[in-house]
Amino acid sequence: MNNLAKLDIKYLRGVGPKRSELLAKELDIHTYYDLLYYFPFRYVDRSTIHRIADLEGDVPYVQLRGRFISFATQGEGARRRLNALFTDGTGTIEVVWFNRVKSIQESLHTGVEYVIFGKPQLFRNHYSIAHPEVDTYNPQAVPTGLQGVYNLTEKLRNRSFTSRAIAKLVASLLELPVVKRLPDTLPQWLLQKRRLMPLADALTNIHLPSDVRTLQQAQFRLKYEELFFLQLNILRYVKNRNAKLPGLIFKHVGDYFNGFYKNHMEFPLTGAQKRVIRVIRQDLGSGKQMNRLLQGDVGSGKTIVAFMTMLLALDNGFQACIMAPTEILATQHYETIRAMAERIGVSVALLTGSTRKKLRDEIHTRLESGELQILIGTHALIEEKVRFSNLGLAVIDEQHRFGVAQRARLWRKNTIAPHVLVMTATPIPRTLAMTVYGDLDVSVIDELPPGRKPVTTLLRYEDQHEQVYRFVGQELRKGRQIYIVYPLIEESEKSDLKALEEGYELIRETFPHYKVCYVHGRMKPAEKDYQMGQFVRGEAHILVATTVIEVGVNVPNASVMVIENAERFGLSQLHQLRGRVGRGSDQSYCILMSKYQLARDTRHRLEVMTQTNDGFVVAEEDMRLRGPGDLEGTQQSGIPLNLRIASLAQDGQILQLARDDAEEVLNADPELSTSDGLLLDRQMRFLFDKHENWSRIS
Ligand code: ADP
Ligand code: MG
Repeated sequence: MNNLAKLDIKYLRGVGPKRSELLAKELDIHTYYDLLYYFPFRYVDRSTIHRIADLEGDVPYVQLRGRFISFATQGEGARRRLNALFTDGTGTIEVVWFNRVKSIQESLHTGVEYVIFGKPQLFRNHYSIAHPEVDTYNPQAVPTGLQGVYNLTEKLRNRSFTSRAIAKLVASLLELPVVKRLPDTLPQWLLQKRRLMPLADALTNIHLPSDVRTLQQAQFRLKYEELFFLQLNILRYVKNRNAKLPGLIFKHVGDYFNGFYKNHMEFPLTGAQKRVIRVIRQDLGSGKQMNRLLQGDVGSGKTIVAFMTMLLALDNGFQACIMAPTEILATQHYETIRAMAERIGVSVALLTGSTRKKLRDEIHTRLESGELQILIGTHALIEEKVRFSNLGLAVIDEQHRFGVAQRARLWRKNTIAPHVLVMTATPIPRTLAMTVYGDLDVSVIDELPPGRKPVTTLLRYEDQHEQVYRFVGQELRKGRQIYIVYPLIEESEKSDLKALEEGYELIRETFPHYKVCYVHGRMKPAEKDYQMGQFVRGEAHILVATTVIEVGVNVPNASVMVIENAERFGLSQLHQLRGRVGRGSDQSYCILMSKYQLARDTRHRLEVMTQTNDGFVVAEEDMRLRGPGDLEGTQQSGIPLNLRIASLAQDGQILQLARDDAEEVLNADPELSTSDGLLLDRQMRFLFDKHENWSRIS
């Protein structure tokens, strides 16, 4: 591998300096290795030659054999196009080119037999193919079987760098002895255990598959390998850390915990909450540092779990803190937790960017003396000046805003790293959690507190506004409050703001007897707080807003949310928004307004929302539709998720196999010091160590 990654692509036959520059710039291909691992993104079947007369309905890519009857150019300049008529004796089909018209026309001739390959489009009862691949027919060299199609950029295509040009380069690469004799990256026993195709064969077959079965075997091998090394890397990191980092041992369950639990709870815990607290208690007594991710949908009751975990720290003579991503959230936590803490005589303080100097100094002193038991705040908590007497537990709310590095800074707040509990309402699919947060143990609160009615989600179209407003009116008369949400994205900020303002005016005219307030992210904070405050206190009945209400607002009396242009929101975002209603005991509604004409994926997205309230189902679907790279939380994880071939959304089963095997390897050979272990270690350094992999630095 290492050797291939040191061979500059410009030395490959058929490349040279100009093309190598293009490959580097457009496809990030710098070396032989990069090209070898640039896999086709799909395959087309070239085993049959179709008859034009047989084409019917929506046709996939087809191969036709015949002659051009005529050529004609149309238009001028950039609009110039070449129209040709092609026949195979059973019928005719139109062939068009929009680029490189002149050179194409010069290279093609009537009377010569060709094989053309492309996707016919039906237009006014006649098929036409744009920019097909064209070859002179040669009975000895008809393309057969499956053919890989490579992803290209517009620029490459304009320089006539086609998918086939890439295929040719790859084919010559595969002929080289260094590639043919490429040693395997996986030990022999693993190949046998999982019946994996050897590496060199898999690489050949992924580019030039002889048939579907072989292709599938090659895909399986390469996906497995990719996921295996990812898991091995994460698990080794975790094991190292666990070996290095002893944990504080919280042996006692004392008066704070028991006293609160027996006498001061306002409600019984749900089964899921109890289960999670039990697991956390085990962690805290294990002698290893806890790093646990607590996932639970909005409203599932994570705060009380965090609070009771903090009481365990206090019972053992330690301090605890909670870090939240925004001032609103930190303040909300402070209020909730102070109310509970007061009942059992626990001291709590709030520290944010806007805490006055005098109060701040006082907090610092009380914290260092150990008199202050719980500190709640924003990023202000990880500043150097904030010193604890003995921090035993750090709770981090809404993980996706904090990266691994920030977590690490919290650890250094004590000579022995404190236990860490990370809470998130962004449901992360299991396969993704295993990969991105592979260094965290995961617990899920999968049960809502009793008495909540699931939100009813409805899809309505633009011409149904009147009916929707009638319904809103009914709910208003029952005394409920209403959210009306508009999209606002930077690219179309001006028109979005205008739509929001018009919406606000329209709502005021439609509901003249109710108070309407209005919030968006471009407002001054004071104005925003004022408007929001009216709604929170129940003085305003309708809140017209952009997505700024996603975090931090808790208004149990708000029972309806209308989302305008719902087709413009992502699935996870819709789900987060919906979490703002259904917080009280009334039946709540989320009404998605959209245009009628929708792309298939978009319609599917909205339908998923109407079919489920389960955040995990939503997250799985979101990942399937968008791919994991886009999901919140993955960017800052520090783990490369630009997988070449495996898909976290689709290859969950392979991921599980790979993880099991990686565990087995590390259990048997924790230092990776056997000869098999050294092989794996070398490959991991190649894959993950930036300094070794010099080709990626440039
Ligand atoms: P989140 O998981 O979104 O942070 P919270 O911790 O804010 O959720 O809890 C949401 C609401 O549910 C709060 O008002 C809280 O008091 C209430 N709650 C939490 N647990 C229970 C329970 N077991 N029974 C009844 N209400 C609960
Ligand atoms: Mg919360």
